[in-house]
This record gives sequence, structure tokens and C-alpha cells, in this order.
Amino acid sequence: MPDTCPKCQQHNVVKSGIVKERQRFRCRDCNYYFTVKKLGKQIDDYYVTKALQLYLEGLSFREIERILGISHVTVSSWIKKYNISRPPHSEFHTTYKVFKQNELLEFMQKEENIKGSGLIITEFGDKYMMIRWERFRK
Ligand SMILES: [Zn+2]
Repeated sequence: MPDTCPKCQQHNVVKSGIVKERQRFRCRDCNYYFTVKKLGKQIDDYYVTKALQLYLEGLSFREIERILGISHVTVSSWIKKYNISRPPHSEFHTTYKVFKQNELLEFMQKEENIKGSGLIITEFGDKYMMIRWERFRK
């Protein structure tokens, strides 16, 4: 059962009958009706956004494939579809790590892990991904 409304992202969803053999849900916050099929579409959008985000942060198609489990051919087609071009990252070195929440907190507690680098933390399924970049030393 989905727990998030695809429209307003609130977690206040209840079952609301069956339409054309599919379970229908209703959001109690915005009164939006949706079926599981629509929710599937929403998950696709979620991965498109994540893939574009990672691409812009300097990750390669192969790395994105490894992280998201989406083929590099598909990722490359999204980049073309949305006409994304990224600025050169030649002065930066991008790395990433995937953490559970407690691991993330542990990592952040050590100053040497976060000092002198840029960080973005983004939700990643039930975990968190930290994208980290450092300027190359000259
Ligand atoms: Zn809603």
C-alpha cells in the first residue's frame, strides 16, 4: 500500500474502492484520487530526477547505472530528452557514498570527513546518498 500522495507528498493516504480491478487510493490532505499504476509512474519520475541530479554532479553514466540500477543507455536517453548539459567539472573530484541514517550521522560527526569539501545529501530510497566534491590540489 502506498503511503505517499503523488500530488502533495503527504503521508495521509487511505484505500478508496477498486476501479477497473485496480485498488484506488485517496489522499486525505488534498483529496486526490490515484491508483497504483499512477504511483508507478511517479516512481519513474523520481528516478529520472535522481539520475539527472547525479549527472549534473559529475557522475558518469556507468556510475549512475550502478547506483540507481537503471541502464546507462536509458540514463543517456533522459539526458538527451531533457537537453541537459553539464558545466566542466575538471577542477573537481566527485565521489559518493550511500548511508543509512545512523551511518550518516556517524560520518558527519568527524570533522575531517566534511572539512574542505562540498557536500550534498539527497534521499535515496530508504537510505541517503552523500555526494561530495573536492577541488583538485594544484
Ligand atoms: Zn495529497
